[in-house]
Amino acid sequence: KPRLYSGMQPSADSLQIGNYIGALMQWRDLQESYEAFFSVVDLHAMTVAQDPEHLREKTRRTAAQYIAAGIEPSRSTLYVQSHVPAHAELAWILSTITGFGEAGRMTQFKDKSQRYGSEATSVGLFTYPVLMAADILLYQTDIVPVGDDQKQHVELTRDLAERFNSRFGQTFTVPMPVIQQETARIYDLQNPTSKMSKSSESDAGTLWMLDDPAVSAKKVMRAVTDSEGSVRYDREAKPGVSNLLVIYAALTGRQIPAIEDEYAGRGYGDFKKGLAEVVVNEFGPVRQRALELLADPAELDRVLAANAARAESVANRTLDDVYDRVGLLRRS
Ligand code: ATP
Ligand code: MG
Repeated sequence: KPRLYSGMQPSADSLQIGNYIGALMQWRDLQESYEAFFSVVDLHAMTVAQDPEHLREKTRRTAAQYIAAGIEPSRSTLYVQSHVPAHAELAWILSTITGFGEAGRMTQFKDKSQRYGSEATSVGLFTYPVLMAADILLYQTDIVPVGDDQKQHVELTRDLAERFNSRFGQTFTVPMPVIQQETARIYDLQNPTSKMSKSSESDAGTLWMLDDPAVSAKKVMRAVTDSEGSVRYDREAKPGVSNLLVIYAALTGRQIPAIEDEYAGRGYGDFKKGLAEVVVNEFGPVRQRALELLADPAELDRVLAANAARAESVANRTLDDVYDRVGLLRRS
């Protein structure tokens, strides 16, 4: 089977529905036909300041939500990034073949560093994409399913793999990004031109997977729309309504025109009520399952340890090869 790699940062107590629609739903389907590695990328989360106790807790919670959303740890390798030291080690090697200017072109870095200010912007945030390249390349990955916000990072990963291969000999599989275009990006409900994100400040605009159903419903009902009053997809003129349509379509598997037809001549209130119901039906059971898993952290930790061992045996083979090729003297 071809290999698949993807991951998420444990940057909040709950994932948000953009993570679910943009990533987890695809992962769930793809794990059937790929040998899949799904990581909770805690080392990436550290690129912004973390409270140590909270980071540990968020890491468990993120893993629990993967499983609750349908990732099967007996079929796919679901593990915590820092449990496999090869990630940090390969990242160092790759950083030595990454151009400073090349890394400086990454738009996620530009966005986040602007948001945090230069004092709070760490070197780790700058080299984040290099660590991500290491994550992917360690597993000889064929495909990387991500939201379109991560596409540039996968392109960099491909460039680094090709560069390394041509400089040191064939070592890495060059991975392909897989991006679900239509539903590629979910926006903030209160600010529908900015991406919904775990780390954003906008609680009212973020639908958390672990939100109480009543809270999710309320957030949908209060989502920003426009004054036109018709349920119609138009990203430019109607970003709020278009975003809600995309969410509706993604969660129901229906086409946007069919949803527009259903709500033709009805107001936004009806449409939002319909969407709130869809959201509550989808996430109610996921939330329930995640809370059950979190009630037994020792068992969850056991599952993660077994999966880390599986990941490590693959990753270490690649890392050994890399160390040999770049000319590091091996300890005898
Ligand atoms: P952070 O704010 O900490 O960066 P995030 O919500 O952007 O959190 P990531 O951990 O960066 O989440 O990304 C996890 C996965 O979810 C990636 O595949 C990413 O492309 C996808 N993703 C994140 N936000 C969205 C979104 N709004 N719409 C679609 N996919 C998304
Ligand atoms: Mg992100």
